[in-house]
Amino acid sequence: MAEYDLLLAGGTVIDPLQDLHGPSDVAIAGSRIAAVAPTIPREHSARVVDVGGRLVVPGLIDLHAHVYWGGTSLGVDPDDLSVRAGVTTFVDAGSAGAGNFPGFCRHLIERARVRILAFLNISFAGIFAFSRHVMVGESVDLRLLNVAEAVRVAREYPNRILGIKVRLGLIAGEGRGLAPLHMALQAAEALERPLMVHTDLPPPTRREVLPLLRPGDIFTHAFRPFPNGPLTDTGSTGQVLPELWAARDRGVVIDLGHGMGSFSFDSARACLAKGFLPDVISSDVHALCIDGPAYDLPTTMSKLLNLGMTLDQVIAAATWAPARAIGRPDLGTLREGAVADVTVLDDQAGEFPFVDVLGQVMTGTRRLVPVLTIIAGEPLTR
Ligand SMILES: [Zn+2]
Repeated sequence: MAEYDLLLAGGTVIDPLQDLHGPSDVAIAGSRIAAVAPTIPREHSARVVDVGGRLVVPGLIDLHAHVYWGGTSLGVDPDDLSVRAGVTTFVDAGSAGAGNFPGFCRHLIERARVRILAFLNISFAGIFAFSRHVMVGESVDLRLLNVAEAVRVAREYPNRILGIKVRLGLIAGEGRGLAPLHMALQAAEALERPLMVHTDLPPPTRREVLPLLRPGDIFTHAFRPFPNGPLTDTGSTGQVLPELWAARDRGVVIDLGHGMGSFSFDSARACLAKGFLPDVISSDVHALCIDGPAYDLPTTMSKLLNLGMTLDQVIAAATWAPARAIGRPDLGTLREGAVADVTVLDDQAGEFPFVDVLGQVMTGTRRLVPVLTIIAGEPLTR
């Protein structure tokens, strides 16, 4: 009997956690990474896939997505998207709240091939009215933000629910200011879990929100356009907010969260020029941005690659950085013994148009395209 079940042969392995970037083979036994070495004899594996000319990276983790398909109007189908996007773990960012998380778990999470973890919305019904025709923020009616119910349900699903999500702003919270944040913080503190925070239009302003976040909390939509963007001014001028630097310095995770309104090339360019990089690149993909401007995680990664982040930085921000943010050191790396989640990417050269949420177009010269997705040792097929 062969020692390994699957051998990915001849690719270029990038595993930022182990500081690996070079030609290497990857061997999988069962659901675990068994070996990563320059040459692994083919006869040691039951199955060999030739990945010459391709990048072999830890399975992509999308830290901010919406995959409660059918249960919420913004949900996309997780299995369809995972194959196309090369994503092995979706972290659902608050689609469900205490009132409908059990349905999300039974109908989607338990049945999907792709791994789904979640932040529980502090609002009881989750993001319940988010469509092109109906848009009612779940943080508007504070009676929905029941702290005790959120804590109770999060404790019922300790392996599925990573922490609490809150959406703040004029759209999600219609002028409720910081009240939803204070309520969500209470739940996250009781659970000793991270809080993921969305801000849209003020109020509240980012300068009010950021100082309240704790080490390990996740600040998403970091590269929004003005207002409530990362800069002190409109467009690409201005300085990176001192509150943003301070939050990063004390261990708040800076997440990109592209979505339909939360990523502008101007904001990103200005931040990168000043050395302020996102810790995590995520797509915030949902029903209203899956056909653009967000599309998926590799497209979002490609934008950052063309804006000047290095390939290793981009891979790190979609693998071990999100794994660390969710406290899963068994994911996001090709270290021996890690879960055998692997994404094989084509690093294509050419002329590719990319668009941001303001409709600005940037012509890029590189594009990352997933060609093979392996979850816990099992290659996905379309
Ligand atoms: Zn979102």
